[in-house]
Amino acid sequence: MKRFDVVIVGGGLAGSALAVALGRAGRSVALIEAAPRKAGDRPSFDDRTLVVNAASLNILTNLGILDPDLAACDIRHIEITRAGAPGHLTLSAADYGYERFGAVIVAHELGAAMLSALEHTEGVEEFCPTSLDRFRATDKQVELQLADGRQLITDLLVGADGTNSLVRELAGMTSRRHDYGQSAMIFNVLTEQHRPDTAFERFTIDGPLALLPQPAGRMGVVWVGDSHRIQSAADMDDSELASRLQQRFGSGLGNFKQPGRRARYPLTQLRTEHPVARRTAVIGNAANTVHPVSAQGFNLGLRDVAALADVIASAEDPGSTEALAQYLAARRHDQSSTVAYTDTLARAFTNPSLAGQLASSLGLVAHAAWPSLSARLVRSAMGFREPVSSLAREPLA
Ligand SMILES: Cc1cc2nc3c(=O)[nH]c(=O)nc-3n(C[C@H](O)[C@H](O)[C@H](O)COP(=O)(O)OP(=O)(O)OC[C@H]3O[C@@H](n4cnc5c(N)ncnc54)[C@H](O)[C@@H]3O)c2cc1C
Repeated sequence: MKRFDVVIVGGGLAGSALAVALGRAGRSVALIEAAPRKAGDRPSFDDRTLVVNAASLNILTNLGILDPDLAACDIRHIEITRAGAPGHLTLSAADYGYERFGAVIVAHELGAAMLSALEHTEGVEEFCPTSLDRFRATDKQVELQLADGRQLITDLLVGADGTNSLVRELAGMTSRRHDYGQSAMIFNVLTEQHRPDTAFERFTIDGPLALLPQPAGRMGVVWVGDSHRIQSAADMDDSELASRLQQRFGSGLGNFKQPGRRARYPLTQLRTEHPVARRTAVIGNAANTVHPVSAQGFNLGLRDVAALADVIASAEDPGSTEALAQYLAARRHDQSSTVAYTDTLARAFTNPSLAGQLASSLGLVAHAAWPSLSARLVRSAMGFREPVSSLAREPLA
């Protein structure tokens, strides 16, 4: 049986980033991933456009994952509109003393950058494609059985194996799950007018719609709504979809053309209050899965990665009860606040009463317009809720 300091199950965005962080810190790491080692084959290394906030950009830069070749569009402004109401609200990063709120990166490009960083990180061994079959945790170590028959031993097992985490289940951690009855459809589209530094969020009675800048004059669309309606929108031909998008978004960016491949995701919330057990922790979607309305899921998972890396850097035994308690203390407030805030936003748009929906969107805009409150909200949304981990701090020039 081969022994590692840490074994990570799940090589999605969270698991891969953690493997890079721990490998760079001199730990021996095994990364177990069920899908083949090709960016296009990993479930979440797909066409979704990720809003990566400022703290996450710092983490990715400090880990050497973000390089200048990675096509990212900076978000300097966020324009919020509400269907049926005149005017708009624009938030500008400069008004809060920041250069940018974050950047938009296409998930498969970030995935490819993670795979390349893994390749260049000493101390990380990838077991792929294979999956976790079962494990046994004792006070001293964790013994794992993989589906291909191999066996591993580790001080700490980390489950980064997504919403339906087997690690979480086998460790006996309790989670709350809520199905929103909604789906998100993503695709990209060519716009007549391009605003490369602006993200658009539009609240409609059918659900929120986000348009996020991509290179080459395209925008990534995240269209959220009732699952049946999303199914019929996904089946529309290109010209019908472009014209529906136009109706939903309005004329602010001119005509929409050439919508690309559509993908749909049912929307679920998962909350794990206590994401640690004996010599085991779960991170990312395996611990907390949130609705994409706040664009926080990956950002939240990356903050789990950075906090766990901080704890492990100073721990003699990374799986000790003390180390896991330290991790839990560092993450508790951010995890519960981010899940609660996102859920409030998401439920506001599944409220069956039209009045309720419109009132909620007005409430949101009022929050954004209230300077001292919104400055705090902006800092949290950018990923800087205390305690800020060392990887999330501004990279040294
Ligand atoms: C439409 C949409 C838009 C989004 N937009 C944003 C955004 O703008 N900003 C943002 O921050 N977040 C966003 N998110 C959320 C973000 O995509 C997720 O939070 C993130 O991808 C989760 O990563 P993860 O690594 O935790 O989990 P996953 O991506 O689910 O990875 C889990 C990995 O574990 C592997 N696995 C599972 N079980 C096993 C096993 N037993 N053995 C071995 N391997 C296993 C899987 O193959 C997979 O590769 C969005 C999500 C959606 C759906």
